[in-house]
Amino acid sequence: MPTFVRTEKCDGCKGQDKTACMYICPHDLMKLDKDGSETGHAMKAFNQEPEQCWECYSCVKICPQNAIEVRHYADMVPLGGSVQPLRGTDSIMWTIKFRNGSMKRFKFPIRTTPEGSIDCYGGKPEAVMANITKAGFFNQMNGFRAGNPAELIRK
Ligand code: SF4
Ligand code: SF4
Repeated sequence: MPTFVRTEKCDGCKGQDKTACMYICPHDLMKLDKDGSETGHAMKAFNQEPEQCWECYSCVKICPQNAIEVRHYADMVPLGGSVQPLRGTDSIMWTIKFRNGSMKRFKFPIRTTPEGSIDCYGGKPEAVMANITKAGFFNQMNGFRAGNPAELIRK
């Protein structure tokens, strides 16, 4: 079942143009209701097409206010149960609530390096934009190479 936003917790990502949940949703489902005309809750996000939600939990994990929850299918998580993650800088904590009231927590590490320490382009050469127009640039390291009939699988 889809995500829903706890309006009392959501702060609209402090009015940024694109909220964290809008940025991360792979299906472009989350939307900020800036003036409240769509939901009656101004500056709160909402899932604009709940039946399309994949329940991927991306928005739940990224929300800095922990304002998003998922309503699960009743056959998987019977009514009254819930599964909620809380992401930290080096680990994620899952809180599982059962409908009999019991609760379990599981904490897993999510990275081996400090947050913000990755330098993805470190040591890599700068891109030469002029090469983009050269034939074969995207499929050959050293430019275009003529086809070799001897390399054909079906001759
Ligand atoms: S990421 Fe969380 S706080 Fe930000 S707009 Fe979405 S629900 Fe609200
Ligand atoms: S659970 Fe995934 S698909 Fe559903 S609204 Fe959140 S990010 Fe989008």
